Amino acid sequence: MRRVVILGSTGSIGVQALDVVRATDGLEVVALSAGRRWEELIAQATAHGVRRVAIADPESAEAARAAWDGEVLSGPEALAELITQARADIVCNAIVGSAGLAATVITLTEGIDLALANKESLVVGGELVIELAAATGAKLLPVDSEHSALFQLISGEDQQPPGTIERLTLTASGGPFRGRSREELGDVSVEQALNHPTWQMGGKISIDSATLMNKGLEVIEAHQLFGTPYDKIDVVVHPQSIVHAMISLADGSSLAHLGYPDMRVPIAFALQWPNRQVLEIPALDLEKLAVLSFEAVDHEAFPCLGLALSAGKEGGTAPCVLNAANEIAVAGFLARRCSFLEIASVIAATLDAADFEQSYSFETLIETDRRSREFASDYLSALG
Ligand code: NAD
Ligand code: MG
Repeated sequence: MRRVVILGSTGSIGVQALDVVRATDGLEVVALSAGRRWEELIAQATAHGVRRVAIADPESAEAARAAWDGEVLSGPEALAELITQARADIVCNAIVGSAGLAATVITLTEGIDLALANKESLVVGGELVIELAAATGAKLLPVDSEHSALFQLISGEDQQPPGTIERLTLTASGGPFRGRSREELGDVSVEQALNHPTWQMGGKISIDSATLMNKGLEVIEAHQLFGTPYDKIDVVVHPQSIVHAMISLADGSSLAHLGYPDMRVPIAFALQWPNRQVLEIPALDLEKLAVLSFEAVDHEAFPCLGLALSAGKEGGTAPCVLNAANEIAVAGFLARRCSFLEIASVIAATLDAADFEQSYSFETLIETDRRSREFASDYLSALG
């Protein structure tokens, strides 16, 4: 039995990770955590025979303690305690936002394998995360579909001589506003932005997909995971979300990873690696699909991708600033405090005002994240 801890189990990825565990003989969930939705968390714990959970929000933790006889951890040390006491073989980090970085650091420091959905960990502190994994020998298994695809494609290639893999391509669905000009994005609503054409996801990543910031975060994620320079990572819009990623090799071959858009596939791959899980997901029917189409990104309508690329190339703490500003701007948009196009303005202004540090510690990141959030929040308030 592989002992699994799922962090952020009440979210979109967390719920699907529990589905995968349920459908798999060799996996057992031993601990769960969530932000605040304690009733859902306790129901999951009960269904999976889990006796220990962590809840970030103190009031929700209190309510859970009153209603449940299992152990409810909360407070700053809760995740560290949960992860270390669980004797886990693998932790699935499905927390959203930079709030997930600490869990990534704790897991890898303990030398425990990590199924990483929380891409923000790699955006905010990529160098630190990769160095930690290398130092402790913990395996970092990407859950993000494009990166799971790249991981599979790259591990299938003997990379001798170096340079065999020349380019990586990430596909983007284009989100709900694909094909619209900048002028046509001025008054789009929250509901329209949340209405993703191919993936069912949490609110934050759905907005990131609509602005294309999600793809920007993913380019940084790919750069950190695979050590590929930014000028060798391409993004192409692919509305059907069937081709997840492609690698181009020195001999003119390109290898792509295909599948219906279903996150249970990369989740199961990460949790069961190096084995594959039998899932009740249909094989691709190419005749039915008929057409797979590709188009270039419209950078004028979707400036967030460019902002992410320049922060990535700047390196150091720049992606941490970018991410913090994006989290504040997305929350602002969801709360109807700014327009869709103002998301990019908040991020650009925060990046403009920041001084970046080229090397950083975990504490530097926490402080940079805090300061950037403060600046972005003030900027958002001033927008009126
Ligand atoms: P979600 O909003 O549906 O769920 C987030 C989870 O994190 C919830 O369980 C919530 O309780 C928990 N959480 C939030 N704040 C927390 C905190 N401070 N401490 C502890 N837990 C906290 O998000 P999601 O769509 O499941 O995405 C999770 C992560 O996976 C994100 O980083 C996202 O980018 C990534 N991801 C998601 C998808 C997808 O299809 N949903 C695909 C690829 C990558
Ligand atoms: Mg993705």
